[in-house]
Amino acid sequence: MIHYKSEPEIALARHSALLVGDAIAEVAKAIRPGVTTRELDHIAEQFILSQGAKPSFKGYKGFPFATCMSVNEAVVHGFPNDTPLKEGDIVSVDVGVYKNGFHGDSAYTFAIGDPGQAILQLLAATRESLYKGIEKAHTANRVGDISFAIQDYTEKQRGYGVVRELVGHGVGRSLHEDPQVPNYGKRGTGARLKEGMVIAIEPMVNLGVKDVVYSEDGWTVLTADRKPSAHFEHTVCIRKGKADILSSFARIEEAEQANPHLASSYYKHAAVAHA
Ligand code: MG
Ligand code: MG
Repeated sequence: MIHYKSEPEIALARHSALLVGDAIAEVAKAIRPGVTTRELDHIAEQFILSQGAKPSFKGYKGFPFATCMSVNEAVVHGFPNDTPLKEGDIVSVDVGVYKNGFHGDSAYTFAIGDPGQAILQLLAATRESLYKGIEKAHTANRVGDISFAIQDYTEKQRGYGVVRELVGHGVGRSLHEDPQVPNYGKRGTGARLKEGMVIAIEPMVNLGVKDVVYSEDGWTVLTADRKPSAHFEHTVCIRKGKADILSSFARIEEAEQANPHLASSYYKHAAVAHA
C-alpha cells in the first residue's frame, strides 16, 4: 500500500532528507587515505544524534551500524570496519535519518585519490543515471519510466551492469514503503506516480556483470565478479511535471571539492546541471 504524504508531512520528510546530506557531508570532510569506515560511521552517527535525530539503519532488521559503507566491490549494505581506506578506493556512503516521524534516505559514492578513468566514469554515469530517473519522476509517468531511464542509460548506452536484487522504494514513516522502484524495467509499467508519493531512487551500477552475491556477514552485497560498483541515491517527492528532490548533494559536493584527498571533478563533465 502506497502512503501519500500531505504537504506538512513532505516538509518533515524534507527536513530528515536534508539532514542525511549534512551527515554525508561530514563524512566527506573526514574521508582520506588511512581513515577507517568505522571512524566515518562514528562521525555520521554523532552528527545525526547532535541534530536530535536517529540513524534509521541502526537496528533496522538487526543492522548493527548507523551507516552503510560499501567499498569497491561492495555494492551496498557494507559494514563499517577497521580496514584503513587507501588511495584508489571508492566508498558508497548510504545514510538514513529519522526525525519527527519521517525517514530520509540518500547515498553518495566518493573516490579517494585517483581510482583511474574507468572507475571515475562509472561514478559519473551512475550519478547521471540517478538524475535520468529523477527526470521521469513526475505525475505523467509510472514507476517503470524511472526504471527504464536508469537501465537504458547505464546498460544500453554505457555497457554497465545494473543490480536487480536491490531496488529503490517508497520512504516516509517507514524506511521502506511501497512501491518498489527497480533500476531496470519497461516504460509505462508499474505503479502510477501521483502527487504526494515520496520515493528513494537509488541506482546501483556495476563496472562488470550485474550479478551480486552476499558476503559472509549476511549483509554486505558484493559484485559476483568482484569489480567495483557505484551507488547514488536521492529521496524525491512526486509533483506535477517535475520531481521535487527532498535530499541534497550540495553540501556533500562542497565538502568533496574542498577535500584534496577526493576526486571531485568527475561529475563536472556530466551533460546536465543539477541541484
Ligand atoms: Mg539509502
Ligand atoms: Mg534506500
